[in-house]
Order: sequence, then C-alpha cells, then structure tokens
Amino acid sequence: MSDTIFSKIINREISADIIFEDDISLAFKDVNPQAPIHFLVIPKKPIATINAITEEDRLVVGHLFYVAAKLADEMGFAEEGYRTVMNCNEFGGQSVYHIHLHVLGGKLMGWPPYTDKPKALE
Ligand code: AMP
Repeated sequence: MSDTIFSKIINREISADIIFEDDISLAFKDVNPQAPIHFLVIPKKPIATINAITEEDRLVVGHLFYVAAKLADEMGFAEEGYRTVMNCNEFGGQSVYHIHLHVLGGKLMGWPPYTDKPKALE
C-alpha cells in the first residue's frame, strides 16, 4: 500500500505542484482539477482509506482539515467558502488508496454529489 502514486509524490519520486508541506502532511494541486481551485491535502503516513483510520491517526486526520483551512485563508478563498471531500472506496469514488482531502473552491458548489444512476444499480 505504501507505493501509491501519493507516496511517490511524498518521496519526490514523481513531481507534483506542491503548495504546502510540514512534518505530518503535504498539499499539492490536483492534476485533473474539478474546480478553479482544487488541491489535495494528504498525510505523510500512508493510510489506505477512511475505514483504515485508527485511534492513533485522529490527530493526523484532524491536521488535514487544519492545513486545508490555513491554505484557504492564505490563498484568499476562506470567506467565500469551499468544499472539502474525502472519498472512501468504490461507492465514494476513491481512486487513490492513500487518504486525501480534496479542497475545491472558486465556484459555487452543487449538492447532492451523487449521480442519478449509480454504477451499482445499473
Ligand atoms: P479520489 O478519486 O478521491 O481518490 O481522488 C484522487 C485524485 O487524485 C483525483 O482527483 C486525481 O485527479 C488526483 N491525482 C491522481 N494522480 C495525481 C497526481 N500525480 N498529481 C496530482 N493529483 C493526482
């Protein structure tokens, strides 16, 4: 599990547009942005899914939100608002199995996020 594309970004084995780093987390722009502002905040610890979060990970996961809010403030879109999303497994739409907090902004977000015809019901 530790060799996901995000571990490679953490280890600088592949490049990414990194906008923030500290000892716990890394934030970088999403390569396929779904909004004018779209970046990911990930833990350096490779946690596969939300389901794999343990009691000892609570501060790490909370830190992702702290970094998201800090960057939103520094980048000037905190007050207008933004969307944070963490997808889990197939129905959540997860494609990279290293948890990541999507931060999307710069547009009025819609709701709900699901499609009318989920894959499972086709
Ligand atoms: P998810 O579908 O929630 O697992 O989100 C994975 C996200 O990672 C998607 O929005 C992808 O566009 C993004 N992504 C995949 N590979 C890279 C990469 N090398 N650099 C930046 N973002 C990536």
